[in-house]
Amino acid sequence: MKIIMLGAPGAGKGTQAKQIADKFSIPHISTGDIFRANIKEGTELGKKAKGYMDAGELVPDELVCDLVVDRIQKEDCANGFILDGFPRTIPQAEALTEALNAIGQKMDYAIDIEVDDAQIVERMGGRRACLGCGATYHIINIPPKKEGICDRCGSEIILRDDDKPETVQNRLNVYHEQTQPLIDYYKNEGILSSVDGTQPMDKVFADIIGIVG
Ligand code: ADP
Ligand code: ADP
Ligand code: ZN
Repeated sequence: MKIIMLGAPGAGKGTQAKQIADKFSIPHISTGDIFRANIKEGTELGKKAKGYMDAGELVPDELVCDLVVDRIQKEDCANGFILDGFPRTIPQAEALTEALNAIGQKMDYAIDIEVDDAQIVERMGGRRACLGCGATYHIINIPPKKEGICDRCGSEIILRDDDKPETVQNRLNVYHEQTQPLIDYYKNEGILSSVDGTQPMDKVFADIIGIVG
């Protein structure tokens, strides 16, 4: 069970990936979460990534590919894994395909969560992320039980710097230019499925289970 989540920033990849990972007991690998953890810990990688992230640009491929290729060869990935936010460029997709080829494997599913740009802007403005455990909420669509506080771990939830309106438009442009071509890439590989991401969260999840389950 090796799954790639595709979709614009804010389409709901992380929300769905966490639930799928729980259901199938496979690791959820989010490159955005990995970078944010590195920034928090002040590592070299975090220092290199931060400027790109704050500007809504992609972190260069060479800082991302090895990291993911190493991660998916860890023991906990033996029964599968779910990639959230990787690949984001054609060279990243090619690096992934090659790394898996080398060990006689391939990805099973690429699931594109479709949401139009206007809804994306609304979602990112309302997104709140937990500083403690990485859980995400939406102030209107998916609010926490107690305002400003994570249901899961009790930490503060915040608006990410890169979810501010001035950065969101750039992230969408970057998505359309660099990431959207992956839809055709995985169509050609024969593993692409699309789901309507504008539906309620549970309905989107049910559709995904219909594909992978
Ligand atoms: P979202 O969930 O809103 O799409 P992410 O948490 O996946 O955002 O990513 C946040 C930022 O981290 C991106 O805007 C980009 O700067 C960086 N990033 C994450 N994954 C990648 C990747 N695979 N390649 C390049 N940059 C990445
Ligand atoms: P991504 O990982 O693709 O960037 P997220 O999973 O973080 O996206 O979701 C973006 C925002 O939209 C979050 O605030 C999340 O709570 C909210 N959200 C996710 N799925 C839905 C949905 N089906 N309907 C409404 N809001 C959603
Ligand atoms: Zn939390």
